[in-house]
Amino acid sequence: MPKELTLTLTPEQAARQEVYIPLAARMVGVQPGQIALARIVRRSIDARRKLQVLLTLELFIDDERPPEPVRLELRPVDHAAPVVVVGCGPAGLFAALRLIEEGYKPILVERGKEVGARKTDIAAINRNGQVDPDSNYAFGEGGAGAFSDGKLFTRSKKRGDHHRALHILLQHGADPSILYDAHPHVGTDRLPGIIARIRQTIIEAGGEVCFGQRVTDLIVKDGRCLGVICGDTTIEGRAVILATGHSADDIYMMLHRRGVPLQAKPFAMGVRVEHPQTLIDTIQYRLPSRGDHLPAATYQLVAQVGGRGVYSFCMCPGGHIVPAMTSASESVVNGMSTSGRNSLFANAGIVAEIRPADWAHLDGQHGPLAGLVLRQQFEQAAREHGGAAQIAPAQRLTDFVAGRPSSALPRTSYPPGVAPSQMEQWMPPFISEALRGGFVDFGRRMRGFLTDQAQIVGVESRTSSPVRIPRDGASLMHPAIEGLFPSGEGAGYAGGIISAAVDGDRSALATARYLKAHNNK
Ligand SMILES: Cc1cc2nc3c(=O)[nH]c(=O)nc-3n(C[C@H](O)[C@H](O)[C@H](O)COP(=O)(O)OP(=O)(O)OC[C@H]3O[C@@H](n4cnc5c(N)ncnc54)[C@H](O)[C@@H]3O)c2cc1C
Repeated sequence: MPKELTLTLTPEQAARQEVYIPLAARMVGVQPGQIALARIVRRSIDARRKLQVLLTLELFIDDERPPEPVRLELRPVDHAAPVVVVGCGPAGLFAALRLIEEGYKPILVERGKEVGARKTDIAAINRNGQVDPDSNYAFGEGGAGAFSDGKLFTRSKKRGDHHRALHILLQHGADPSILYDAHPHVGTDRLPGIIARIRQTIIEAGGEVCFGQRVTDLIVKDGRCLGVICGDTTIEGRAVILATGHSADDIYMMLHRRGVPLQAKPFAMGVRVEHPQTLIDTIQYRLPSRGDHLPAATYQLVAQVGGRGVYSFCMCPGGHIVPAMTSASESVVNGMSTSGRNSLFANAGIVAEIRPADWAHLDGQHGPLAGLVLRQQFEQAAREHGGAAQIAPAQRLTDFVAGRPSSALPRTSYPPGVAPSQMEQWMPPFISEALRGGFVDFGRRMRGFLTDQAQIVGVESRTSSPVRIPRDGASLMHPAIEGLFPSGEGAGYAGGIISAAVDGDRSALATARYLKAHNNK
């Protein structure tokens, strides 16, 4: 059995094996030479009093060996029963891998382009604010996960599944540190390569990937879903896994039009706040500079304002704010960083809970899509108050809190640029009041956070899905349409890359169970 122990180290010591391995050897009473392998199980930074790194190691002594890593058990599926998987995001890709392991042929149907070609469209949004509605930060191979920050943290309690997903990413080129870092991170520069290699694995096993195919309808015969329609093309399979993400408004509208039962669900919206990274480092590490051995500092903040939760979301240290809209008529921002996390800026979504009472006025006309309509209205209002070519509305943080306009704005990482806007004049008051209260609270708890060096950029609205596509808890199938398996973030069962991947995996297992019970017919 390997021995596990936690060392409390300075950042310099934690960066050097030749320092921490002898320390660990001494603690377990062996010679350093007897340690065959010291595997980092967890690494976290504690800056509450004295700055220290907590390094948990697993020590394999003499001839002990670590267990074999999780491996995909792929088999050729060229002639196997086909299953249609809509969406090449984390949920769709991981569903496809599991279907192959279960002996089914996944046919991935994706509205966007392959991840390499997608880069040109991403560059066009950044440079001239040109938004291709099928190829952008949300749509295309890799889904919203491709040009994301690539933080792989999940609160999922299902550690086994979570580890499997991390191991699969590792096999496709992610850094081994994702297995042990307390807050694993891949970076937007490395994600596209990993995604392209996962596609290669799927194709080599006999799966198919159809790009440029936007699903416009389902094929339903005698109450059973047997494929999808993409304009003039039909794509058939024995079942359909629907993993279209939370930005596919058209999919929710198509399902609603068809009379498929849907449910509105709580979500969260707000803004993205941006600070100089050096300021966040100084606040969090209480050092004039973070030096060579500490990562760009992060924060996580939560407050209750008049009974409404306000919290930081997807914090990106050393990152960039990016234009994450799927249509030119919306202003939507999000955040990402490269593996080096070395930009001059720190950004995070600061969002307020959105609850059923907030969209009650839209219920009568829009039913289960009322939350979605509220989101669209918020994003469109932000667009109207920004500038041409996706310039986003922005306000100095201290001006927003004081309720006054900003005459000038700090520098930003947001590629299309920002224009001053008095945000509370067009935001629903329940959002602006909650955000204002949240910022005041955060400023008290993190001295220096509430500063005129920071600005807020609008709007952060795609935190999770405003609609749930219901599914039966045991079969994971839609209760009204046999053979339809709603999956991932868009269906309302995941939030983030890893939880979407894990949900895709579960949906594929459920699909395989269903098909096996029907003799694969
Ligand atoms: C900029 C940015 C940064 C992010 N950073 C992080 C992070 O650091 N960590 C983290 O965990 N999460 C992050 N996220 C969120 C994360 O990317 C999502 O939670 C995750 O991708 C959801 O996976 P999914 O497979 O359920 O859906 P998606 O990734 O949204 O994939 C859905 C797929 O379906 C396709 N599709 C949609 N409609 C149709 C249609 N009609 N026909 C055919 N195909 C369709 C889309 O093109 C897309 O490829 C970030 C998101 C963004 C935008």
